[in-house]
Amino acid sequence: MLVIFDCDGVLVDTEPLANASLSRALRAQGLDWSPEETTRRLMGLSLKSCVEICEAELGRKLPDDFLETMQAYTYQSFRDAPLQAIAGVKEAILTVQQAGRDTCVASSGSPEKMRFTLGLTGLWDLFDGRIFSASQVPRGKPFPDLFLHAALSMNVQPFDCVVIEDSVPGVQAARSAGMKALAYAGEPYANRDALRQAGGQVFDDMKQLPGLVLT
Ligand SMILES: [Mg+2]
Repeated sequence: MLVIFDCDGVLVDTEPLANASLSRALRAQGLDWSPEETTRRLMGLSLKSCVEICEAELGRKLPDDFLETMQAYTYQSFRDAPLQAIAGVKEAILTVQQAGRDTCVASSGSPEKMRFTLGLTGLWDLFDGRIFSASQVPRGKPFPDLFLHAALSMNVQPFDCVVIEDSVPGVQAARSAGMKALAYAGEPYANRDALRQAGGQVFDDMKQLPGLVLT
C-alpha cells in the first residue's frame, strides 16, 4: 500500500500564513478578501487556478509580478513565524514507514516551495525523491492527474493507495483517482462537512493516522 500525503495543511502548517499573504497581495490589487475568505475560496487549488479565479472576480488580468510579490510575502512569513510542521505528523509518518508502508508527497505547490517548507520543518529527508507537484501534470486538484501520476511513479495501483488531505479539492481529486481519502480536520479552518461530503473519512489528530492507515 502507498500512503500519499498532501503537503500544505497536512505536513506543514502553511495555510494560515499563505492565505494571509495572498489576501494581502490581493487587497493591493483591489480584491478585498480577508484571509478567511481567501482560504474558503482558494485553499487546495494550484496557483494557476487561484490566479484564474481572482482574475475572473476582478474582471482583469493581475500584473505580471503579482505571483512574485505574493510569494515574497509568503516566504518571508514562513521564515518569520517560523513555519511549523503539523502537530504530530512527523511521528505519524515514521510509524507508518516503520510498518513497511510506502509513502510519498503530492501537492498543488511548486517543487521549490516544498523544498523550502519541508526543509524548514525537517520533513524533507523523510520523502526525498518521492515528492510530486501539480506542475508535473496537465490538470491540478480537483482532477485526479497528480495522484495518478504519483501512484504510477511509485509503481502502485490506485486502489492500493490512501491519500491524506485537508482540502475539498484534494479529497475530490483522491476520490476521482479511485483512492481512499483520509481528511485531516484538526486545524481551525477545516470544513468537516464539506470534506465528508466530498468523500473523505474525517479525522482530527495526526496521532490517529497510523491506526487509520495500518488497519
Ligand atoms: Mg492541503
